[in-house]
This record gives sequence, structure tokens and C-alpha cells, in this order.
Amino acid sequence: MFNHILVPIDMADPTSADKAISLASDMARKVQAELHFLTVLPGFGSPMVGSYFSRQGFEDVRAEVSEQLKSFAEEHVPDGLTVHLNVVGGVPHKEIIKEARRVNADLIIIPSHTHKVVERFLLGSVAARVVERATVSVMILRADEQGPMCAG
Ligand code: ADP
Repeated sequence: MFNHILVPIDMADPTSADKAISLASDMARKVQAELHFLTVLPGFGSPMVGSYFSRQGFEDVRAEVSEQLKSFAEEHVPDGLTVHLNVVGGVPHKEIIKEARRVNADLIIIPSHTHKVVERFLLGSVAARVVERATVSVMILRADEQGPMCAG
């Protein structure tokens, strides 16, 4: 049913992704899908940030965040699953959509902190923009105890 599941992970707050990773891992095991984790370094690539960071500065940050994402994946993804990791600079929702196309994702699972979400326009901005623009199914998984909310 699903072959490639994309989970965007904000490394500024990785624990909010725990539940999403556990669900994505269960699904991946059942349907033999591959997992793709993406972290976006917001602002990198913009002229404003570019004026403060050299290309090498960006690569250094990217390498450090890639290591963090790797450790996080090793800790959270059960053995035997294939997980691909990527860290890029840019605008989070745009890069998530781009990555979904690049890896041919057929499902995006997005962890959300936003509590008591009953309507789409109350979603966090990244989640809402991905739901609006994605051409594949998107599952918003709340960090609180209520069930997932699906769109697409
Ligand atoms: P909230 O965290 O308030 O629910 P957001 O829409 O900002 O709202 O974030 C929801 C999700 O969007 C995050 O859990 C993550 O999956 C994704 N996301 C946000 N920022 C980034 C980022 N910089 N890199 C990767 N994913 C991100």
C-alpha cells in the first residue's frame, strides 16, 4: 500500500516526533516500506542568513545536524527497517514537499504539537502548508493522546 513514508523531523524539538516514528516504523514493517526522515534548517539558503553564514558554515551546521538525526534514528527506529536521512536548508514546508517528490513518498506523517486541533486552519503553519500543497496522503499525528487526523 505504501512504499515510501516521509517523516519530517524538526531537530529543534525531536521528541515531538517519537509517536510519529513509532507509528511509521510499525507501518513500514507491515507493508515493507522504506522510511525517509527529513530535517530542514530554516532560513539557510535565504540571502539574509547567507550574509551571516559562509557556504562552509552551512555545511558545518548541516554535518552536525545530520549526526544528530542519525543518532536519533538509530535510537528510535527498530533494526531491520530501511531509513534514509536528509538534512537540507530552506523553507520547511517547501522542502518537505520537494523531498516527498524526490523520494517518491506516498505518505507523509507529520507530528504536531498543536493541542485541541479540530479544524485544519488551526494546525501549526508547517503542517497546514504541507497538507494544502502535498499531492500525496498526509497524516497529522498529534503529540497528545487524541487520535491521528488524516487529510489527502
Ligand atoms: P506545531 O509544532 O506547532 O504542531 P508546525 O506545523 O510548526 O506546528 O510543526 C509540525 C511539524 O512540521 C513538525 O513536527 C515537523 O514534522 C514539521 N517541521 C516543522 N519544522 C520543521 C523543520 N525545520 N524540519 C523538518 N520538519 C519540520
